[in-house]
Formats: sequence, structure tokens, C-alpha cells
Amino acid sequence: MDMKIDDQFRRQAEQLHCGSPVVDAHLDLAGEILLRQEAGEKDIIARHYLENFKKAGLSLLISSIYVDDVMLPEKGLRNALNQISALQSDLAGLADEVVLIKNSTDFESARDKGLIGILLYMEGLDCIGDDLRLLSTFYELGVRGASLTWSRRNQLANGCCRAREHIQIPGGLSAAGRSVIRELERYACFIDISHLNDDGFDEVMALTTKPVIATHSNARSVYDSYRNLTDAQIKKLAERGGMIGINGCTLIAGSHKQGNHLEMLCKHIEHIVQLVGSDHVGYGFDLCDSYGRAEPRLQFEATSFDCLADHSEMVLVTAALLQRGMPAEAVRSIIGGNFYRYIHGIV
Ligand SMILES: [Zn+2]
Repeated sequence: MDMKIDDQFRRQAEQLHCGSPVVDAHLDLAGEILLRQEAGEKDIIARHYLENFKKAGLSLLISSIYVDDVMLPEKGLRNALNQISALQSDLAGLADEVVLIKNSTDFESARDKGLIGILLYMEGLDCIGDDLRLLSTFYELGVRGASLTWSRRNQLANGCCRAREHIQIPGGLSAAGRSVIRELERYACFIDISHLNDDGFDEVMALTTKPVIATHSNARSVYDSYRNLTDAQIKKLAERGGMIGINGCTLIAGSHKQGNHLEMLCKHIEHIVQLVGSDHVGYGFDLCDSYGRAEPRLQFEATSFDCLADHSEMVLVTAALLQRGMPAEAVRSIIGGNFYRYIHGIV
């Protein structure tokens, strides 16, 4: 059973979402658009997302470019590039509502016009192999952040696990991976450590001086998953001025057995706030059910991994935080103020 939200807190949450920046730091949007375009769909954001984005008062979304296992290695680079062009073409009809953010002018223009901004980042860099020159190409196309791996091992780093088998693996970065981290910092791209293992985390922190973020990871002491961060890691990220986006995947939040999604999301947030204050946590819900429905593989039963039905339910998490006693100013930072400030600083 999940929390029941009182109307009073729901209304207060809706007001906060209307009047403050709201950010979702992780959605596999570009990949879903490509999958749907290849199946013949058009206007994917408009048809599947826009109404709920508006209900959430969304200001900024970080879209991953996530390359699925089946594309690797040969089709990885083509798939990543096609995801960018798929997103661009889907945005072409939405210029009055949703725009790609590549620099501070784009950011400020979107802010002043009340548009939803989308920032692109690479979730895993399998598609570049160990060829660092491709980073500048992706930068030119608007990519403003990256993680080295999506769970699985590649030429840059060991991920957090043998992907899909969920078998944890140790080991840090390769020489090429260390070079990529230095290049990303030089480009002022954000470095995402979600999906990296503990050895990799330590190496990234040793190699960098700027803030490092986790776009979609929770607290390991609230729910023990190697995709989540230890208290020591949370403190290190915060000391550096980094950010943690709270992941809304039931398997990572730890709500998959009891269905207590709002309660578990609040517990992760409250734990991080208790450790490092409210300036280093935000939303990075990683809602992936819609992506799953877009995949062409035959599914005999629909599986759901999301704590929230869609983006409009971001308001419920906010209401739950308020109902459990989080002060409104802290909640305002968490729903987007923190990530908004951070992203404005890097573009
Ligand atoms: Zn992910």
C-alpha cells in the first residue's frame, strides 16, 4: 500500500510546480522517439509526453542517448546519431513549446519564454569505442554530458554489473576512460556516475575537480542495490557541489514488492537531505515504461518498472514530501531548483 495524499498537500505541490523550476534529470527520450519513428509514428513528444510535461510544470528534461545491447558494437554509433536526428525532427514541430538547450542563450530564452528545455547526454559511451575525437562531434551536436558506461563493461570502464543478468562486477576505468573523463571536464560537460561501480566512482572523483552528478541513482542505505549510492559517495558528491537525481524505477527505489512507491521515493530523498542538506538532490525518475512499450520485441505480458504512471505524477512525489513534513523551501529546491541552477552553470 502506498501513501494516501491529502488534497491540501496536493494543492500546495501543484502551486510549487507552477511557480518554480521543475526538472527531470533522466528520461530515455531520444531513443524512444527513434524507436517510434522507425515504427512509423510521428509527433512523439506531442502525442505521448507534452500534456503530462505541462501538468508537471516541467522546465527542463535531461534526455539520455542510450544505445541498446542489440545495436552494439557495429550499429552503436549510427544508432546514437540517429537518436539525435530523431529528437531534432520531433522537436521541429514544437518550437513554441519544447526546445533543445545547447548554451546559456538557449537556456535563458527557454526560461524567459516559459518553454520546456531538453538537454542531451550520452548514457554510456560504448558507441565511441576508445576514439576520443568523437566527443567533439557529439559536443557539436548538442551533447552536454556523459556517463562512461550503462552498467555493462566497455572499452572505457567496467560498469556496475553484467547488464541484464544483474551480476555485480568490480574494477575501474581503462586508460581511454580516464582520458574521456579529462576531456569531458575540459568541455565543461557534466559527468554522470549512475551505472558506474564503486571502483569507477572513486577513480572519477580522483580525476576531476568540478561537480560530478548522478542523474538517476538512490541511496544504498535505504535500499541495497549496487545501482544506488553509499552514504560516503553521497557525501563526496555533495562536498564537490554535485547532484543526485532520485530514480523512480521500482527495482532501484525498492518499492517493487510492496508497491509503496511514494513512500520509498520520499525515504531516499529524506535520507540524502539528512546526510548533506537539500541542495544536492532532485528528480531523475528514469520513467521507462513508455520506452518499453515502444520496443518492437514481442512481449507476452506488459512489464512495468515505473513508480509513477507518467510525468504528471511528479506532483504526487512533491505532495508526499510536503505531507511527510519537508519544508516548502527545501521541496522547491528538490523539484528542480537544484538541477536548474546546476545545468545553467554548465551550458
Ligand atoms: Zn539508466
